[in-house]
Amino acid sequence: MAKVLVVDDVHDNIMLLTYELEDDGFEVLSATSGKECLKAADQVVPDVILLDIRMPEMGGIETLEHLKKNPKTADIPVIMVSANDSNDNIISVLDLGAHDFVSKPVEYVVLAARMRSALRLSQALTQLETANIELKKLATTDPLTSCFNRRHFFSLSRKETLKATRHHRGLSIFMMDIDYFKRINDTYGHIAGDQALIQFANCCRGVCRESDILGRLGGEEFALSCTDTHINGAKMLAERLRLACEQLSINVDGNVFNMTISIGITQFLPTDESFDCALQRADKLLYKAKEYGRNRCISEDDLPNT
Ligand code: GH3
Ligand code: MG
Ligand code: MG
Repeated sequence: MAKVLVVDDVHDNIMLLTYELEDDGFEVLSATSGKECLKAADQVVPDVILLDIRMPEMGGIETLEHLKKNPKTADIPVIMVSANDSNDNIISVLDLGAHDFVSKPVEYVVLAARMRSALRLSQALTQLETANIELKKLATTDPLTSCFNRRHFFSLSRKETLKATRHHRGLSIFMMDIDYFKRINDTYGHIAGDQALIQFANCCRGVCRESDILGRLGGEEFALSCTDTHINGAKMLAERLRLACEQLSINVDGNVFNMTISIGITQFLPTDESFDCALQRADKLLYKAKEYGRNRCISEDDLPNT
C-alpha cells in the first residue's frame, strides 16, 4: 500500500482528500504546516507528498526547498497543490524539483492519475538503482567467492600504492595459491572444489581486516593487499591465515577433506615502479613456497642470501 503525506493548513481539505485517497487504497498521513511536513517526511519517508503552496509561516515552496535539500527526502515525488495555477507559479515549482502540479479545487481523478504517474516513475528509479548496484557488483566481483575480480583488485590496489607512498604507510601484498587443488577436484569433484574456493575466501575475510583488499586473480589463485601493514605484521598475518586454512575441514555431501595454501609475501617499496612490480615479486615468492614443499609462507627474509 503506497503511503501519501497530505500537507494543507486547512483541515477540511485534508479530510476531503483523505476520504478519497483511503477509498482508493492509499495509506494517508497528514501535516498542517511546512514544519510538520518536514518532520513527518523525514521520519516516515512517504511514497508521495501532496503539498499545498499557500500556508502561513513556512509556505509550500520553502517546504519543497527543504525537502529537496535533505538526502533522506530529496527523492520523494512532491505534487504541489495550489489555486494559483499561473504559468510562472507552475514553472517555478517544477524547476525547484516538484514532480507535478495540481490546481485547486482538486479534481480527484486528475490528482489520482498524477499520483500514479509519480509512483510509477519513483518505482522505476528504485529498480534502476537496484539494477545499478547489482551491475556494479557483477563488474567488480567474482560471483563464486565474492572476492574482487582481477581488474577491480588491481584498480583498488594501485590506488593504495599512491596512498602508501604519499603518507609513508606500509602496504603488504600476498600472492596465495591452494596446494594440489587439482587433486581436490579430481578426488571429490568440481562442486567440492568450488566449495573449497568459497571456504578459502571466507576464511581469508575472517582473518584479515575489512580494509584489506582480497582478489581472486584466477582459478585457485588469490591476492591480498594489506593496507597500513608493514612486512613483519604481514608475515604474522600470513602465518595465521595459513594455519586457519589448514585447520578448515570442508564437508561436501559427506566427503570431509582439508586443504593447505602457499603464500608469497612482500611489501610495496618506494623503489617499486608500480603495484604490478611488487605483485610479481610476491608471485615469485609464492613459487618458492611451492618449491620448498607447499603449505608455507615465504617472504624475502626466508630466502638464502645470494
Ligand atoms: P599447486 O600445488 O602447484 O598449486 O597445484 P594445483 O593442483 O593446485 O595447481 P594446478 O594449476 O595444476 O591446478 C589448478 C586447478 O584448479 C585446475 C583447474 O581445473 C582448477 N580450477 C580452476 N578454476 C576453478 C574453479 O572455479 N572451480 C574449480 N572447482 N576448479 C577450478
Ligand atoms: Mg594450486
Ligand atoms: Mg595454480
